[in-house]
Amino acid sequence: MLRMQPFEVHLPETVAEACKLRSELADSLFVAGGTDLLPNIKHGLFTPKHLISLSHIDGFDGISVVDGAIRIGAGTSLDVVANSTDVPPGLAKAASLVAGPQHRKMGTLGGNVMLDTRCLFYNQSTQWREALGYCLKAEGTFCHVIGSDKRCVAAHSADTVPVLLALDAAVEFVGPEGEGAVNMRQLYRQEGRDPVQLDDRTLLTAIVLPPLPAGHVSTYRKVRTRAAIDFPQLGIGLAGAIVDGVVTELSAVASALMPQPKVLKGMDAAVGKPLDEAMIEHLAERCFKQVRPQRSLHGDPAWRRHMARVEMRRGLEELVEASQ
Ligand SMILES: Cc1cc2nc3c(=O)[nH]c(=O)nc-3n(C[C@H](O)[C@H](O)[C@H](O)COP(=O)(O)OP(=O)(O)OC[C@H]3O[C@@H](n4cnc5c(N)ncnc54)[C@H](O)[C@@H]3O)c2cc1C
Ligand code: SF4
Repeated sequence: MLRMQPFEVHLPETVAEACKLRSELADSLFVAGGTDLLPNIKHGLFTPKHLISLSHIDGFDGISVVDGAIRIGAGTSLDVVANSTDVPPGLAKAASLVAGPQHRKMGTLGGNVMLDTRCLFYNQSTQWREALGYCLKAEGTFCHVIGSDKRCVAAHSADTVPVLLALDAAVEFVGPEGEGAVNMRQLYRQEGRDPVQLDDRTLLTAIVLPPLPAGHVSTYRKVRTRAAIDFPQLGIGLAGAIVDGVVTELSAVASALMPQPKVLKGMDAAVGKPLDEAMIEHLAERCFKQVRPQRSLHGDPAWRRHMARVEMRRGLEELVEASQ
């Protein structure tokens, strides 16, 4: 049986109080819905002495639209995002495909954006990992996926993130240096041990989307073993605009491959043209050529790469359908 390690819970009521606690208490972590962090603590991946709960912070959740820009509080539950008509359809769809209904009620968008990378050799019990001599991401010196002692390729596995990047979202935060904001395309790095480019005492406060263009279309395609609960083996976020049958913007991001979501190049080939069968085939091929799934997740990498082409095609077809 997996036992929870003992820790003390703190319940700050303001962002300032939460950040102060995080800076002052050694061995502390933020916890939002706890749907990822608490299983990870049970697996011995983290051993915090203090958890700073974000669930009592006033004004930490909610969705507002000001001059077309959409601001989603980091503490907004995935269930609320999934059922909101204020957010783009692709983001609502991605949120609706995270885990199971109970996780989406508890889990937050901020927690999804800050989700740790995942790996078959890492998301296991302490005994399981010990039997294998641990690995580079925790307690060990060697990566079982790529045979390296320098690099971890655990996969970025948050479903909402590929769509958020395709939508050109930014995050607002409060860190040890004060308040700040960063475009999400600059948020992640290609290193599975430390995938987020922010000081780890940083508190994410909101996710902000720029105003949607006329003719906006967006969607998310997810490959997983069971169509309930499972993390993605591949995720593709698509966002753009189609006006009178002609593409005016298009962006695509693939994930669950490497530690960093991959912003796909060459999508502008569709701008000024209709998304017809030939263009969809061309873009699906461009996607296939750019993705390199690793053995860090379930599913043969060659099959997952093939599925990137298939899901890209399906996603683009969804955009055409939505524009009609
Ligand atoms: C069985 C199971 C299946 C799952 N399937 C999926 C899936 O299919 N897709 C998917 O994307 N996820 C999945 N998850 C993971 C999880 O449910 C979601 O990613 C969820 O969005 C995490 O949000 P949370 O609020 O629960 O985060 P928490 O678990 O509370 O925190 C996650 C991490 O983010 C940090 N954090 C949280 N909020 C903030 C903040 N505001 N500022 C700074 N740091 C913060 C925490 O310190 C922690 O490191 C699954 C989990 C389980 C247990
Ligand atoms: S990719 Fe390698 S180092 Fe990273 S978690 Fe997996 S086995 Fe460990």
